[in-house]
Amino acid sequence: MFTIEKLKRDLETIGIKKGDTLLVRADLGAIGKLETRKREDYISFMLDAVGDEGTIIGLSFTGGFSIKKNKNNFFDGKNKSYTGAFANTMLSHPKAIRSAHPTNSYVAIGKNAKYILENHDENSGAYEPIRKIVELGGKMILIGCVESSPGFTTTHLAEVDLGLHKRIIFPTLNGAYYKKNNEIKLFKRKDLGSCSSTFYRFYGHYVKNELLKQGYVGNAYSILIDAKKAFDLDLKILQKNPKITLCDNPRCMLCRARRWDNLKDMPIYFIKYIIPRILRKVFK
Ligand SMILES: [Zn+2]
Repeated sequence: MFTIEKLKRDLETIGIKKGDTLLVRADLGAIGKLETRKREDYISFMLDAVGDEGTIIGLSFTGGFSIKKNKNNFFDGKNKSYTGAFANTMLSHPKAIRSAHPTNSYVAIGKNAKYILENHDENSGAYEPIRKIVELGGKMILIGCVESSPGFTTTHLAEVDLGLHKRIIFPTLNGAYYKKNNEIKLFKRKDLGSCSSTFYRFYGHYVKNELLKQGYVGNAYSILIDAKKAFDLDLKILQKNPKITLCDNPRCMLCRARRWDNLKDMPIYFIKYIIPRILRKVFK
């Protein structure tokens, strides 16, 4: 069992200071149990660590559709996030604000929350709040998900800035319906990120450039990085090796069948996975 005070000190030991702007991705289960047994206290210790002048930001992504559209399923700002308990706990905080992007909304609490999230809607790039975190001299931390959900979100922003998102075949097959001014509208995504399961490949570069701080938050192994330094290095790595984001999973549709720079895997993917799926439907 951990106290809020102990978890706050853990963050300080890793390198969190008062006034920090901090993007968090966290697996709350990995931290361990709280003495207070209150779910909202998984946020309280982070807010205590950054103080009144600080800001905490989370990814409250909602996904939407991929190929098959369903108008009954729309984003209205109240939807739960698929990213897990951390984002959903943040969303339920009384001081939380959320951006209006139909598939990739962010949630934030604190001094810079409004500035980071304003104008982030259907007309904005999915990763633009990250640019503001970079600009503000922010930090990014992974708590308990270093291996299970690898990497930092600056990598997706770097891909967009280098035009690498244009390698995804028909990105607008992905999107979402969303509610605005009492109307249900269709949003088609143009800046789909590449396969983030490959982002562990960036870790060696961060280590070599001495960008990572590490430690434990409760039981959760955690890493911290300066957002601007990570972003600058992500740009360099992706420029040098644009295919670093192609994974090895034969079943990964994004890597095997939706990349203009990897058409060679497409025939095998269709023969092994798509055609059998179609045949099963036909003969059902
Ligand atoms: Zn993949």
